[in-house]
Amino acid sequence: MRILDLSLNGFRNYEAFQCAFDPGVNLIVGENAQGKTNLLEAVCYLSRGAAFRTRREAELIRFGADFAELSARVESYGREQSLRAVMFSGRRPRQLFLSGVKKSSREELDGVLNTVLFCPEDLSVLKSGAAERRRLLDDALCQLRPKYARALEEYKRLLAQKAAVLRERQERPDMLELIPDYNERMAQTGAILITTRARYLRQLEERAAAHHLAFSGAREQLSLGYQTVSTVTDPAAPAMEVYERLKEHQQSHYRAELESMQCLSGPHKDDFEARLNGIPVKAFASQGQTRTAAISLKLAERDLFEADTGELPVLLLDDVLSELDPGRQDFVLNRIRNGQVFITCCEQDKISEIGKTIHIENGAVI
Ligand code: ATP
Ligand code: MG
Repeated sequence: MRILDLSLNGFRNYEAFQCAFDPGVNLIVGENAQGKTNLLEAVCYLSRGAAFRTRREAELIRFGADFAELSARVESYGREQSLRAVMFSGRRPRQLFLSGVKKSSREELDGVLNTVLFCPEDLSVLKSGAAERRRLLDDALCQLRPKYARALEEYKRLLAQKAAVLRERQERPDMLELIPDYNERMAQTGAILITTRARYLRQLEERAAAHHLAFSGAREQLSLGYQTVSTVTDPAAPAMEVYERLKEHQQSHYRAELESMQCLSGPHKDDFEARLNGIPVKAFASQGQTRTAAISLKLAERDLFEADTGELPVLLLDDVLSELDPGRQDFVLNRIRNGQVFITCCEQDKISEIGKTIHIENGAVI
């Protein structure tokens, strides 16, 4: 999967931009605030029909302009197609086109241009709270497995309802009779979440460890340990077995849930622990190690996407080179050899030996 060229009109700080890309590495170089991240954001928008830094379309339109237009030629599954998006400053809804045909929803663009994005906030995913790591798993699995996406949505809905019942149990004690029903359905959907996460994490670990090993010059062995409901001793077991363990946990925590008025049982607190040579990243890893491991995870996510869909997604790396030592920078610049990659950075001297370097200044190629 790759993007052949891109043109932008009135998008962010780009007035009129046109550029063709290399099928391999594209290094986007420029000083701060020149439009490097904006360029990745444009690619991302065409890929997903949504920007990654804002939900508000109006912010994407160049100050003072009436509309923004993004278009690209892409190649996937051996076929060339074009993607185009137009957004307007007033109330008029945005428009999406695939090879000239107007599409009514962003879902219709799914699979034309898949991207895996890595931005500075992701660098700390292994140091931040469990919610960030769950999101990493959920985002990938929702794209790959529709059954998982449905189970997650239902689980979240049940969780919110059960939480409300527990919270209001003093005012509305009659509602407590709903709990067994919630528990039953949460054990069913929860078992799907747990088994899918556990199996995916095993695959992710295998590939991420290989990337990290190469990244660190064969010095660091990365491992990922899944942490879920305590009674689930084998999370990769058949869903029926996990379901039984979840029911057990619910029963033993029923009183505690009533007393604390909170949901204490279920996979909504799941996490995974990353270790380097057996030592937990969260507590002990250096900045560079943490970043390296986080990049390895994204590379692994991309591999698994390819294994599943047959096409390698375009990799978008925003500002990931800073704080990596020369060896690790070299890995990012020169050794991610498969598929198309966009890397932004500030310094001129980090020129890659392969691919294309694009200098950006004030929303234009120089
Ligand atoms: P850095 O190296 O600091 O990350 P960058 O090259 O990635 O910089 P961008 O985030 O792409 O910079 O932003 C470049 C500029 O775009 C900012 O100065 C911002 O003010 C400007 N900008 C953002 N949105 C708009 C808009 N709607 N219209 C005009 N300019 C905009
Ligand atoms: Mg930037």
